[in-house]
Amino acid sequence: MVSFDNRETRDDEMQTTAEEWISDLIADTEDAHNSEAFQQWLDIQRRFHDYSTQNSLLIALQCPHATHVAGYRTWQDEFDRQVSKGKSAIWIWAPITAKTCPVCGETKSRHDDECTSDGVPYDDWSTALLSFKSVPVFDVSQTESEASSTKPQTSTIRRSPPHSHTAVTASVTSVS
Ligand SMILES: [Zn+2]
Repeated sequence: MVSFDNRETRDDEMQTTAEEWISDLIADTEDAHNSEAFQQWLDIQRRFHDYSTQNSLLIALQCPHATHVAGYRTWQDEFDRQVSKGKSAIWIWAPITAKTCPVCGETKSRHDDECTSDGVPYDDWSTALLSFKSVPVFDVSQTESEASSTKPQTSTIRRSPPHSHTAVTASVTSVS
């Protein structure tokens, strides 16, 4: 806590205190920028730019060398790859979305029959983000080709999905 009680020196102290605080902050920020962890995180952010900040941070913390992540089933169904035995999942957040009533904001299953929804049919309700749930994903380095483990595989891997969580949401059941 900083206080400037001394009238004589107040103006100077306010000036120097603020300047020192700013230069400390800049130094700390530079340290942070130069730190290996921060660089690693920036690197992950570049690789996972379609993902949320928190998800890319979570990926960086759990699997610093990750390049492509997807759910267990997505690796099997879309890439013909199998998560290798004994690999531990990378946990990230996946959005849970559902159509909600334009009047009361409830989902269909929780919707009160009394509410008329202003006559808007269910199909025209707009989709809202309800919450996030933690879901397990795996990096490509934790998987192996189901066909052959000798072929080069990275060329068959698509770039990150155009929208965040696409691979992840496949495994998340939408609540309705
Ligand atoms: Zn309603």
